[in-house]
Formats: sequence, structure tokens, C-alpha cells
Amino acid sequence: MTLKPIYFLTLISLTASQDLTNYEGYKVYQVVPETLDQASLINKFQYDINFDFWTEIRLLNAPVDVMVAPLAQESFEAVLNTENIEYSTLIENVEETLQKRNRRRKRATVEAGNVTFTEFMRHQEILAYIHQVAADHADVASTEVIGKSFEGRDLTIIKISTGGSDKPIIYIEAAIHAREWISPPVALYIINQLVENPENSDMYQDVDWVILPVVNPDGYEYTHTDVRLWRKTRTPGTICYGVDANRNFDYQWMVTGASNWQCSETYAGHVAFSEVETRTVRDYLLANTPNVKLFLDLHSYGQWLLYPWAYTSDLVENIEELHSLGDRVNDAIYAVRGTNYTVGSSNAILYASSGGSRDWTKAVAGIDLGYTVELPRGGDSGFDPDASDILPVVTETWEGVKVFYEYVRDKYVN
Ligand SMILES: [Zn+2]
Repeated sequence: MTLKPIYFLTLISLTASQDLTNYEGYKVYQVVPETLDQASLINKFQYDINFDFWTEIRLLNAPVDVMVAPLAQESFEAVLNTENIEYSTLIENVEETLQKRNRRRKRATVEAGNVTFTEFMRHQEILAYIHQVAADHADVASTEVIGKSFEGRDLTIIKISTGGSDKPIIYIEAAIHAREWISPPVALYIINQLVENPENSDMYQDVDWVILPVVNPDGYEYTHTDVRLWRKTRTPGTICYGVDANRNFDYQWMVTGASNWQCSETYAGHVAFSEVETRTVRDYLLANTPNVKLFLDLHSYGQWLLYPWAYTSDLVENIEELHSLGDRVNDAIYAVRGTNYTVGSSNAILYASSGGSRDWTKAVAGIDLGYTVELPRGGDSGFDPDASDILPVVTETWEGVKVFYEYVRDKYVN
């Protein structure tokens, strides 16, 4: 009850400025829940808008990164101290860290149609690249605008295929969460390696690839122009903007681990599929069932390979297949330079969340193989790998993608 006046004040300031654009004094704590009681206590802060969980509570003894507004820090630390929860300060002042990055990063322009793995490309540059790839390799690559974002940006897929129908499709998407900048470069590297590296031409003879490099371009652009840490879409609400698109899918929607409060980072929307971006993904996948055999949703960060279910601790029916494939993907990534992913679902989840794409693709679209890939953290803020770290991440992840491909080929191509 005592928290109510604080909420009220926060609402007023949000109304005045619409969105938070300055993170002065915001801290990022790394907390380590060691018991279920501690985990449950930390989890309660998920629904407080002074808290932004950068990573989720998934396992005991695994660190959780959470950004906390200045006015809530003292009480948060008091709780952690009283309950003997291990924690450290990961970022003392988020605004300072973001400013430092802006000063350091002098961005080179990307020539229209080119791709780079030493910069984070803007949405227009990403579109220019996939259009160029399709123009240069028209025999195997084509683009299609499958929808428009709320603000009218193209939701463009690139399809890599030698033609024919009824081939298995590997579908990959990135940047449903706007601030997770390392995810589009991973998608672009997959396109680049498939189409522009002749060594890999085998990989699209019997299997088709469909890649949507930016699911949430409005949010993604907003992280470049206004608020670096924006996560949601950009649909206006009465008080706050945006919906967590990965809580907006219509399977067990709003059942758990999602918020019905529009200012929350995990706001599920006023109805399922309220967002045009999620409806677009839904419609594309449904139009292409049963050919889509593998669904990969690229996120950051934390190095997790997560398969269904997210909404329950019940085991998915093909858990052995999903787990062993995940393990093999991890082995391939690990072999490059020791990056280790945790593979799991319910056994790697302390707190369920619902309305995510990977549960929907399994339960409704009938795609048997689906993973959320939480790529590695990087840079000062975790969401900001240094320019020199992009290439190592995209190249190691590509080794994992090859394992996914081989599995799909072996299972579904006669
Ligand atoms: Zn994410």
C-alpha cells in the first residue's frame, strides 16, 4: 500500500514526457537467487515499473540483471540485504554508460546495399542490403513485404530457395525486442553466408530459408534515434507507448509472466495480437504451414537456447528431440571460442511467461522445432556489444545454425 504514491508520481512524470528518455541515476544490479524463496522475492519486482529485467530469472544460482530507477534503489537494496541475497552493481549510472558509448562510437556510413559486421545497421540499411542480395542473386533470393509496422515501415522477408514447392522451411527472425541490437547482425550474417559464400550453396538446395531481420522496426529505429533501451513496439497507449510483442501471441495469452499494465516492459497488449507486427508474423507462418519446420527467434542476452514451453513447467512432447538438438547446437557454438549456452525449457525456467512466439509456433502453428536464442551480452550495457564483438558473435552462431540446418535436412528431406 505504501508504494501507491510512488506509482502515482511516476505516472505523472511519464504522462508529461510520454517516455523515459534519460537514465540518469538508474542502476543495473546483478542479483543471484540461491533459493526458491529468494527467487520468488526477486520475481515480485517484475511487475513494478521502476524495475526493468534485462535478463530473466531462469535458474537458481544464475545471475539476473535488473535496472532499477533511482527512487526504488534504497528499498531494493534493503530487501536484498535483509534476505541475504547476493548482489553486485553491474552499472552504477546507466545514463553515463550510454553517453560514454555514444561518444566512443563514431559510426561509419554503410554504402547502400552493403552489409557490415562492425556496425549496427539502421533499418533502412538492412532493407537496402536484403534488396541488393535479392537483385544480385535473383536465381536463389527474393524479398517480399509481408506487412507494415504500426508506423508504416516495411516488414520484409528474404527467401532463399532454388524453387519448387513443399520443401522444408527454416524461418528465422530477429529484433522483436527493439534494444537487442546483436540479433539483426546474426540474421544478416546467415543471409550473407548462405547467398554470398558459394561454399554454402548446398544449404538451400533442399531446404528453403525465410529470414525476417527486424520484426519490430519502429522500436528498433527508436532505439537508434531516441531511447537506446526501448524494448516494446511503438503503438501509443493512453499513458505509455508500446507492447511487448513477445507477450502478444495468442496462446495462453496473459496467463502468466506478462503484464496488463501498459507502462510495463512486459505489457501483453489489450488483446492478443493487438500488434500488427505479431499479426504479420502469425499470418506468414500460418500461410506456410506445414512447411515451416524450424522457428528461430533471435534475442539477447544471456546465452540461453530455449524451447517450449515457456508458459508452464509441463514438458513438451518432443522434449528429447528439442533438448538433444539444442545440445548439439551448443557444442558447435562452444567449439568456436568457448561460448556456452544453457539449453532448456521448463527445467530452465523458474518463472513462466506466456504469450511468447515460441509457444504459439509450437501449439498453434504446429512447428515442432522452435527455439528462442538469447545471444551473448556485450559492451558496457549488455545490449551494446562493442563493434569489434559483432563478428565473433555472428560467426560462432553461424556454426550453430549449420547444425540446425543439417538436422532439418536429415529429418525432412528424403
Ligand atoms: Zn528479447
